[in-house]
Amino acid sequence: MLPPDRTVRQRIIELLADTRMSSYQLAQRLGIAERQVEEHLPHIIKSLARNRMRRFVLEPATCFDCGFVFRGRKKLTRPGRCPVCRSEGISAPRYGIDSVKERAERLDSHTASE
Ligand SMILES: [Zn+2]
Repeated sequence: MLPPDRTVRQRIIELLADTRMSSYQLAQRLGIAERQVEEHLPHIIKSLARNRMRRFVLEPATCFDCGFVFRGRKKLTRPGRCPVCRSEGISAPRYGIDSVKERAERLDSHTASE
């Protein structure tokens, strides 16, 4: 039997701790396909949403030619083309997991805005 997905997700979480990596870099480190990494990421984001000590950070893709930043993008894969200048030279989005200060989390439990 193959190892459960949870093991791969755990390794991704460990690799992303306090750093930033693209899905390509993660794929290389884990020895799996980049597409597989991109399939695991939404599950990791979901599980970390319930974790008060850690926060998933997405560094958006950027167009090399005009500097357009793909903010608020839902998809985790690298965009194919810049909507502004049509360039295909686009940096891959990078991910990381930051530790959250316990203090800030404890103060306001009624406003769960971020
Ligand atoms: Zn552009």
